[in-house]
Amino acid sequence: MNIEREQLEMDVVFVGAGPANLAAALHLKTVLAEHDELVEKGIKPGRKIGDLEIAIVEKGSFVGAHILSGAVMDPIAIRELMPDFLEQGCPVDSAVTSDAFWYLTEGRGIEAPIVPPPLKNKGKYIVSLSKVCEWLAEKCEEAGINIFPEFPAAEVLYDENDQVIGVRTGDKGIDREGHPKGNFEPGVDLLAKVTVLGEGSRGSLAKQVMQRLGLMEGKEPQVFSLGVKELWEVPAGNFEEGKVVHTLGFPSDTDTYGGGWIYGMKNNVVSIGYVTGLDYKDPLIDPHAEFQKFKTHPKIAAVLAGGKMLKYGAKTINAGGYWTMPRLYGDGVLIVGESGSFLNGQRIKGIHTAIKSGMLAAETIVGAFDHEDFSVKTLRHYEEKVNLSWIYDELHPVRNFHAAFQSGRWSALVNTGLQFLTGGLAWGFMPKEHHVAGHERMEKLADHQNNGTRYENVKFDKQLTFDKITDVFHAGVAHDEDQPVHLHVLDPEICATRCAEEYGNPCQRFCPAAVYEMEFNAATERKELKINFSNCVHCKTCDIADPYQIINWVTPEGGGGPNFKGM
Ligand SMILES: Cc1cc2nc3c(=O)[nH]c(=O)nc-3n(C[C@H](O)[C@H](O)[C@H](O)COP(=O)(O)OP(=O)(O)OC[C@H]3O[C@@H](n4cnc5c(N)ncnc54)[C@H](O)[C@@H]3O)c2cc1C
Repeated sequence: MNIEREQLEMDVVFVGAGPANLAAALHLKTVLAEHDELVEKGIKPGRKIGDLEIAIVEKGSFVGAHILSGAVMDPIAIRELMPDFLEQGCPVDSAVTSDAFWYLTEGRGIEAPIVPPPLKNKGKYIVSLSKVCEWLAEKCEEAGINIFPEFPAAEVLYDENDQVIGVRTGDKGIDREGHPKGNFEPGVDLLAKVTVLGEGSRGSLAKQVMQRLGLMEGKEPQVFSLGVKELWEVPAGNFEEGKVVHTLGFPSDTDTYGGGWIYGMKNNVVSIGYVTGLDYKDPLIDPHAEFQKFKTHPKIAAVLAGGKMLKYGAKTINAGGYWTMPRLYGDGVLIVGESGSFLNGQRIKGIHTAIKSGMLAAETIVGAFDHEDFSVKTLRHYEEKVNLSWIYDELHPVRNFHAAFQSGRWSALVNTGLQFLTGGLAWGFMPKEHHVAGHERMEKLADHQNNGTRYENVKFDKQLTFDKITDVFHAGVAHDEDQPVHLHVLDPEICATRCAEEYGNPCQRFCPAAVYEMEFNAATERKELKINFSNCVHCKTCDIADPYQIINWVTPEGGGGPNFKGM
């Protein structure tokens, strides 16, 4: 289709309205004003830059719609961004008042006498990150930043030298077969001197840019986990506001990275969830069912007894940390937040590092405008700033944390203890290749047939445990059904043949939203892949976990997807 597109000339375009980019845009405004003032007063050399045209594009129907987190926020970064963030109305839910660490066996829960230091959270804040992002977006708009919800960035634009020159937003009003409908609106080309990718875990544009510009060369492969979460309202007295519990053990087996959380929020609401490493070996694992099974543990079920599930969501977490960070810059482009692997896997915290990375990107951008150079020559200073900041001090000592778990839970726990004492050195039992991409670790079905009973005691009774369809309903997912499928399976023949035989079509299990289904086709007399794309919660698991790497997640029409308001 030959489409005429509008071009909008911006100075800086931010892709994704998560904490990283919202902080980046806001800080950019502040640093820019400071720079110009200092130059005017003759205190700083350089030139006055003046006001910049800044845009943030967001694929969700509003800022926060696609934001899902735990979340306990370490306030270190937001305090740097806005020292009076509480006075300015940042919607924190509760201050953390107590911490606990539970080791769960099949029937028992043992409370650790000492909470491991990385999981101590007193003084931090329990938040709905979705609400915090909505609030940050208001602050951005007050500062004159343009925010465009319902505008997915679908493609990166490059010039003839592979310099990134902006993004193309997705077309609207295309039918399932790819033809324009009556409401067709072509995407626009947002041209920018600097494009900042803050798309969160497994960004669809970040993935393209990393491949095209070779940003993962010499780096270890990224590894991911999947967090599956529900919000519950529970009877008063079941779980205190401000209490934070992390768990290890049940229901994960010792080969599979996993752990749970319960955070006590205001009004007897609890945030409860379970993280499963997407580097598991057993193709029969189903992270959604792992979470449901977690809730059947007597110690967890007691917290939820008499309560009601309010909301559901799932999202991947980029868990590899320091070794798996891409080169964070290219000509015309910077990568911030979880797209750049900024999360601290040991603390399961990425909000503060996302915010700080955005702030450092903003400071780099001011330098680039000052020198009127948007190539790697100036943008590489971003990575230098990261390595000179507390981000490095926090992430470097835990650089071997996740890789150690790829050798199993027991050796990892020994390893983690030794890492803690030695500033992060790796101690024995690490996989030879260090971080191994999750999809490469999945083993064949034939080696795991006996584990088919893993979820036999999970009843999906719609009181304590929920099937995927019921949960998806609680994620408020909506996609226009008459649009092209946004989950591109590059070779569906593999699904019906090799994958069925070798792995038993694990997409049916790893997707937490029942998007993938193997359905019998009478004409071909075999089961073939059916994609219920309208269920998609935008977690990106399929793009990551598919053992053949033939699923490509691309942005659907703007505004479609989950509604994680308040999550
Ligand atoms: C289940 C779970 C629990 C967690 N718990 C905690 C916790 O307790 N504490 C903590 O500190 N961290 C926690 N984290 C991690 C934390 O949420 C992330 O590290 C942080 O949100 C990363 O911020 P970000 O801005 O990089 O990306 P995100 O918060 O993921 O935001 C990215 C935004 O970009 C948008 N987007 C993506 N692609 C496009 C595109 N192509 N075009 C337009 N928009 C796009 C998305 O819709 C989204 O709004 C948790 C994460 C998960 C999933």
